[in-house]
Amino acid sequence: MGVPLLDLKAQYRDLETDLDAVIHEVMANAAFIGGPKVAELERSIAEYCGTAYAVACGNGTDALFLILAAMGIGKGDEVITTPFTFFATVEAIVHLGAMPVFVDVEPGTYNMDVTALEAAITDRTKAIMPVHIFGQCVDMDVVNDVAKRHGLRVIEDACQAIGATYKGRKAGSLADAAAFSFFPSKNLGCVGDGGMVTTDDKAIADACRKLANHGSSRKYYHEAFGVNSRLDALQAAILLVKLPHLDAWNAQRRAAAEVYDELLAGVEGIELPVTRDYGVPVYHLFIVKSERAETIMDALQAAGIGTALYYPLALHEQECFESVEGFVKPSLPEVESCDMRTFALPCFPGITRAQQEEIVRVVTDALA
Ligand SMILES: *Cc1c(COP(=O)(O)O)cnc(C)c1O
Repeated sequence: MGVPLLDLKAQYRDLETDLDAVIHEVMANAAFIGGPKVAELERSIAEYCGTAYAVACGNGTDALFLILAAMGIGKGDEVITTPFTFFATVEAIVHLGAMPVFVDVEPGTYNMDVTALEAAITDRTKAIMPVHIFGQCVDMDVVNDVAKRHGLRVIEDACQAIGATYKGRKAGSLADAAAFSFFPSKNLGCVGDGGMVTTDDKAIADACRKLANHGSSRKYYHEAFGVNSRLDALQAAILLVKLPHLDAWNAQRRAAAEVYDELLAGVEGIELPVTRDYGVPVYHLFIVKSERAETIMDALQAAGIGTALYYPLALHEQECFESVEGFVKPSLPEVESCDMRTFALPCFPGITRAQQEEIVRVVTDALA
């Protein structure tokens, strides 16, 4: 019995009638970029996250880039972030000419170690960019408090955390602005690339909207040099069909995580993820850590069970930083201890207990 890491075909089968209907509607209307579906999605996401504004864009990477650009962050500025994230988080910082400054992670949650922030601040620090990794929020009260004392902006990379909460408030509403991705494998995914900025700050929302559209708010008049980063009507229409199901899907991911916690409790040689009680995570990925990751992953693959390293190499250790002038590679022992040792077990809406029992059997056999 094989189990994929994520079963998007099953999701399509469940929503096939509704999805096919909106795809045909978009085709028949022949209005493909922007338009009423995109505006409706922006309103729906703002309402879902509890923010005043949401601005659609081409993908999550662009959402991060647009926010930083809207805040005027660029050459000579430093942005404090985590080395344990998808590469896009730092790509946005570096492309604007700013310098990423990495702090270590907490064991178990793999989120940014917020107690390390203060020591990372310099005269050049402009912003902190926490990433709600694997769908669990960073301890945002601490981040916002440090930022406030030092006059810094805070940007949430919420790409893995749509629907997660922190002290009752949704990811995306916990800082000056937040970036979401609708990449197909995210908890709320479209059928291509898509992204969104959420914020309560009108100036940031307006600037992001303008920058995403060639620095223009009036056709053929350009107040700034922006980029082309727009959302398709088709993606918006599909996301509007899926959004009402998101909370139920996230609840199913949490239920699956609980089953793993139960089945893997006490198994020697594998570390389970830690859940902080300040919020409710959405398990974008269920990540375990083991010194014997390679052995376990080989056994899973041989059994047709989907798995992958998240992430094989921390960002501060990546080759690309050799060409970043002035970058000094820090020593970050906790995150370095995750290299080649942290990997995902299948955890998606609809996974069955029988499938999880099979996965756990393969894992425990591999460790025996
Ligand atoms: C997916 C992801 C991004 C980038 O989103 P794209 O839509 O693929 O550009 C950024 N940060 C994190 C943490 C992500 O998981």
